Amino acid sequence: MTYSTVPGPGDRPVVGRFCPSPTGNPHVGMARTALFSWAFTRHHGGKFVFRIEDTDASRDSQESYDLLLDVMRWLGLDWDEGPVVGGPNGPYRQSERMGIYADVTQRLLDAGLAYKAYDTAEELEERREKARAEGRPSGYDGLHRDLTDEQRAAFEAEGREPVIRFKMPRRDYTFDDLVRGPITFGEADVQDFVIVRANGQPLYTLTNPTDDALMGVTHVLRGEDLLSSTPRQIALYEAFAQIGVGQGFVPAFGHLPYVMGSGNRKLSKRDPESNLLGYRDQGFLPEGLLNYLALLGWSLDAERDVFSLAEMVEAFEVGRVNPNPARFDLDKCTAINGSHVRLLQPAELVDRLVPLFQAEGLVADPPTEFQVGLLTAAAPLVHERMALLSEGVAMLRFLFVSDDEFTVDEADRAKQLDEKGLDVVRAAREALADLPVWSTATIEGALRARLIDELGLKPRVAFGPVRVATTGSRISPPLFESLELLEKRRTLARLDAALG
Ligand code: GLU
Repeated sequence: MTYSTVPGPGDRPVVGRFCPSPTGNPHVGMARTALFSWAFTRHHGGKFVFRIEDTDASRDSQESYDLLLDVMRWLGLDWDEGPVVGGPNGPYRQSERMGIYADVTQRLLDAGLAYKAYDTAEELEERREKARAEGRPSGYDGLHRDLTDEQRAAFEAEGREPVIRFKMPRRDYTFDDLVRGPITFGEADVQDFVIVRANGQPLYTLTNPTDDALMGVTHVLRGEDLLSSTPRQIALYEAFAQIGVGQGFVPAFGHLPYVMGSGNRKLSKRDPESNLLGYRDQGFLPEGLLNYLALLGWSLDAERDVFSLAEMVEAFEVGRVNPNPARFDLDKCTAINGSHVRLLQPAELVDRLVPLFQAEGLVADPPTEFQVGLLTAAAPLVHERMALLSEGVAMLRFLFVSDDEFTVDEADRAKQLDEKGLDVVRAAREALADLPVWSTATIEGALRARLIDELGLKPRVAFGPVRVATTGSRISPPLFESLELLEKRRTLARLDAALG
């Protein structure tokens, strides 16, 4: 197999990755990052690594881990190495890789590339204050960088527990960001940073580049919030090359734009529109949501904002990602989803609707033959009328509820089933009661003859009450087709119930 290459670490086959931390519910920003990294990797025919960064036992949870896997499967972003599928560089959960980090840390210490620092929190704070007051950079001042063995022994004798800091080489770091172009961090911008806590817990600063190095990741695409960690990670890569960790190259980095929510704030994990599972439950299609997420920083071309995942993969150039913040617009997201709903083949639409009907207890699991038949006949009636699958469920639920569970929307009842409305319902019932053949055409013929021709009603006045009485809502599929599917017995029963 041949691979195309992009600016980056030489001519290596592309290895991309997605490495979320399992905290809380999976969110939109996360999915956007996963999508871009995945599309980039697939575009270049590369290998996609999925890794779980769960080194913080106080924040990570198994539930969140399971949800992440669920959501990735639902979105259809597949991985070549990672949980469940395994791979040559596993395990793919950082909580199972603690021995590896301890080993890398020891090698960094042995090579003099990292050191133990014994400063207490109070000492650090005091020096930071002083630096601030004197207008100097307030990061770590490197006081414990070159301790003698005696000084270390003395601190240990005091019972101090050291953190481990990486010895940041004293120089500028410049790299060519795949999205933003050349970026330079000056020497003063990055101080020696903690890689292992005093309690022995390795930090993201160490575990993330260690795993990227060991897993051969060539291209790191991630959110802009991580930009400031990049010079540190590049320095660590260079250190890894000295101690034989990884394959001796530095990956290319691309930082994706912020996603803004309403009111020009960064979309936060806690915003309700961030919750990915909410989209699934409301009946967004994965392809619709992915299409919209792709537009948060990228576009296929100026003419078209509706496209498939395969089209995105084909066209995805990371150099065309816009570095400016992208705005998350739920209305646009919903409209794009509607376009994808309309693109579904009829049988596919039924397949996608079934789980939502099941979730509402309207259809059995597995569905009965009758239910599949009814849904197959009914779905085309609402296909063009919904942006979300949940809207289809709402419009068709009247066909699937039992007569006992059938309810009429109270606001619609008040508007449509007043005294005049009930007169219309009574007339409709009489017109339908003796119909020998129950079809869309005969139902329409009978109702028009009686309500429009005979009683002289306007169509809206004539059909509104019948619609509310039989479907429970003013928003429903076309009336005559609906009544045909509801069948005669149930139609008459509902009209009777409305008449009370
Ligand atoms: N676990 C990190 C996060 O979720 C990954 C950052 C990265 O992609 O390097 O923020």
